[in-house]
Amino acid sequence: MSTDRLTEAFTAVHRGRPEGVWAAPGRVNLIGEHTDYNDGFVLPIALPHTARAAVRRREDDVLRLHSAQAEGGVVELTPDQLVPGTVESWAKYPAGVVWALREAGHAVGGADIHLDSDVPTGAGLSSSAALECVVATAFNDLWDLGLGPVELGLLAQRAENGFVGVPCGAMDQLASTCCEAERAMFLDTRSLSARQLPVDLAAAGLRLLVIDTRVKHDLADGAYAERRSGCEKAAALLGLTALRDLAPDGLDAALATLPDDGLRSLTRHVVTENARVEAAVEALVKGDPAALGPILTAGHASLRDDFLVSCAETDLVVEVALAAGALGARMTGGGFGGSVIALVTEDGADGVADAVTAAFAEAGLTAPRIFTALAAQGAHRLS
Ligand code: ADP
Ligand code: MG
Repeated sequence: MSTDRLTEAFTAVHRGRPEGVWAAPGRVNLIGEHTDYNDGFVLPIALPHTARAAVRRREDDVLRLHSAQAEGGVVELTPDQLVPGTVESWAKYPAGVVWALREAGHAVGGADIHLDSDVPTGAGLSSSAALECVVATAFNDLWDLGLGPVELGLLAQRAENGFVGVPCGAMDQLASTCCEAERAMFLDTRSLSARQLPVDLAAAGLRLLVIDTRVKHDLADGAYAERRSGCEKAAALLGLTALRDLAPDGLDAALATLPDDGLRSLTRHVVTENARVEAAVEALVKGDPAALGPILTAGHASLRDDFLVSCAETDLVVEVALAAGALGARMTGGGFGGSVIALVTEDGADGVADAVTAAFAEAGLTAPRIFTALAAQGAHRLS
């Protein structure tokens, strides 16, 4: 949607004109799943799909929030309503950012905000982070806060943890604020140091398909918290700050000291997944993106068999995509539904997409949404 249309929509809702228009993307993570809350490595790209915000500061401290994707019109929030746990609706995402900014001591006032997003929601592509990051970026500019993309991403994560109540790691928000066009971001979630690595799949005759299964199973949220606390327990038993501190060559010895299979398999996933991120980085640095294929597929097996966060629909996509010639495929995002990524050849892309669509029809499932992922730029001002 053009900024003109966003401005018009703002005017229809709030009257007058916005002071500017901002965009922040959703993301797909190439590899490094469930590693961000273990101080580990991730390798996301930003998607061309973005949340956009038209914003105007107000004289008072009131927030007036509107989204083209939400029912119910404008949500108005006074400062005393910006308390964690009080905002139930979708508005908790943008409101949480304002809360986090004020908590961090930034004297930001009220605003009229119109949001519009084409990031699919609940598909593991971080529509929530996009919404948070676009508001954080707009407020940074409008109040001249001078915050960089890492600080903005961390504030957005704080909003999701502390206000929305989702105990997510920092990957989604940092991907949305920090990623660069045509690059994958190799991020160390402990040191927050990032390397932007060129990904030119087209030059290698390749494409990355995102296949949104359009399923999200109810246990997703509870299971996420459970996996996270399991990882923290395993690290504590091993005397480590985080599972990130366990090197692959110490894995077997460490596993032998853990008390049960559940903790052993969580630990095995995190340690092998961090190693897969490093292998993927090596493939990109060497300019050999085809080598990502088996790394993705091994990552899926680990999420399915060790971390136990896959589900029938994502397993079906991976299996069918591989049978139809994909070089590699894996579920991406938290799990229990959401999206799968498949690395395919240019020539084989349609065949893989058709095979997955046919398999879903045969299984009586809603048709998946399939698109090609291009590495786009992180949050920025549009006008
Ligand atoms: P994901 O981040 O993977 O898309 P989440 O469950 O974390 O999934 O976030 C999805 C939620 O974010 C939606 O249920 C909705 O509350 C909110 N959201 C995302 N995009 C929008 C939007 N454009 N307008 C209103 N709410 C949105
Ligand atoms: Mg989310």
